Amino acid sequence: MERLDKLLASQGTWSRKDVKSLISKGLVSVNGAQEKKADRKVEETDIIAIDGKQLNVQKYLYLMMNKPPGYVSAVRDSLDKTVLELVPAEYKRKNLFPAGRLDKDTTGMIIITDDGAMAHDILSPKNHVPKSYIVTIDIPLTPVMSERFAAGIELNDGICRPAVLEILCSTTGKVTLEEGRYHQIKRMFGCCGAKVTALKRVSMGALQLDGTLPEGQCRPLTEDELILLQ
Ligand code: URA
Repeated sequence: MERLDKLLASQGTWSRKDVKSLISKGLVSVNGAQEKKADRKVEETDIIAIDGKQLNVQKYLYLMMNKPPGYVSAVRDSLDKTVLELVPAEYKRKNLFPAGRLDKDTTGMIIITDDGAMAHDILSPKNHVPKSYIVTIDIPLTPVMSERFAAGIELNDGICRPAVLEILCSTTGKVTLEEGRYHQIKRMFGCCGAKVTALKRVSMGALQLDGTLPEGQCRPLTEDELILLQ
């Protein structure tokens, strides 16, 4: 059972403000009857319609977060603040977790969901979902580094799959990886004699980080964005 306003706001189509206005204008119905109580509890079996159009309620929640530095990608941690602590109350629900890990000092896109199967699909190395990062290092990037990334850098836990390193300007580039090993980009640059000074994930598969989403905030994925992740 969930509050009607919370459920609607989690669908990725309407903001909390939109939901409030839809409900107060009498445009929302539950099982055929107009519902003006935002805190009305609804169940999975209830039929919800907006302006007469039946809603296909998403069973799971998918949030895109722009992770700030200083937070760990975990549900709970005894020492550090976690990305879950940044999820506003309106989206809090049981079983939410970050799909994948970004280092504490890495920023950018992280998906927070309660859909374990989907998280597995985007994270499984077998599915080769590319993840792109904007990276800044302490020395100028070189074409030789790009060649080494493309050939597959050898780390102490094995050879990396070929990765793309595009040089954007002297010390900033874009790295696209199909794996997600521990500190992978930092270690790959370490092999090239460089230290990563900033790292931000900007895409996962065809899904781009929403450039208007401030650091530390999240919002539900729209239906179209969800398709891009699948
Ligand atoms: N590679 C890293 O080194 N750190 C991250 O957070 C992600 C990729």
